[in-house]
Amino acid sequence: MTASRHALVTGGGSGVGEAIALALAEAGIDVTVCGRRAEPLEKVSAGHARIHAMTADVTDEASVKALYETAEAERGPFDIVIANAGIASSAPAHRTTLEDWNRIVDVNLTGAFLTVKPALQPMAKRGSGRIVFIASVAGLRGYAYVAPYVASKHGVIGLMRALSVELVKTGVTVNAICPGYVETEMLEESIARVVEKTGRSREEARKGFIEANPHGRLIKPREVAAAALWLVSPEAASVTGQSISISGGETW
Ligand code: NAD
Repeated sequence: MTASRHALVTGGGSGVGEAIALALAEAGIDVTVCGRRAEPLEKVSAGHARIHAMTADVTDEASVKALYETAEAERGPFDIVIANAGIASSAPAHRTTLEDWNRIVDVNLTGAFLTVKPALQPMAKRGSGRIVFIASVAGLRGYAYVAPYVASKHGVIGLMRALSVELVKTGVTVNAICPGYVETEMLEESIARVVEKTGRSREEARKGFIEANPHGRLIKPREVAAAALWLVSPEAASVTGQSISISGGETW
């Protein structure tokens, strides 16, 4: 019998991270989900015996280190790291405060780096590993009123490309998934911001996001999870350095 693999999914208490954790667990992979709040993580871990909850803040290097130490002592080294935690905000660039800029970049870009950093050398030494960043189509093209988000997600694509080249001979693959608008809490918060700032109704605001995906519907978290599951499969061993758009047909 081969030992099961062990995956880390950050921001695994909701939305895309929750769907990825469940898809990996259903495929027989042990999953450690992390986030800042225990309650949603425990709810997700209650949904599958292979999912284990641990609180950690991806912007805090010591917190990520403690997470690695505890989770790896209990379930073995991480074979898979999914850097999914992320936040968004919106404002015209000239009204974006430095505080807001730093907050978004800290979680989305620095947090993604801190999430994967402790796994790089051990994975390379073992000659296998899978790193998947949940970026965004906003990592591949520009959008108005979300400058820090777009910049941080472009940064994630740059980080992914750099790591994929650095690790290309080691058996470790590094890729990014780039969703369009996905039906999650983050989208609900974006809808609420549009309502607050423009006075549009909730339905109108929601319609705007739906229409921004060219195929005319919101993406489901499990569609993103299916791509992650494929990227960590043995059949995807030759796929590295790629940004996979799951956006209902965005082109640029
Ligand atoms: P979500 O708000 O449900 O999930 C984000 C998760 O990240 C939450 O569980 C949150 O607690 C966690 N998180 C935030 N800051 C953290 C920190 N400092 N440390 C640890 N965890 C932290 O939203 P989602 O849509 O599932 O977002 C998941 C990822 O998908 C994000 O990176 C987001 O940018 C990306 N994404 C979302 C959409 C969308 O339309 N929803 C589109 C493209 C990309």
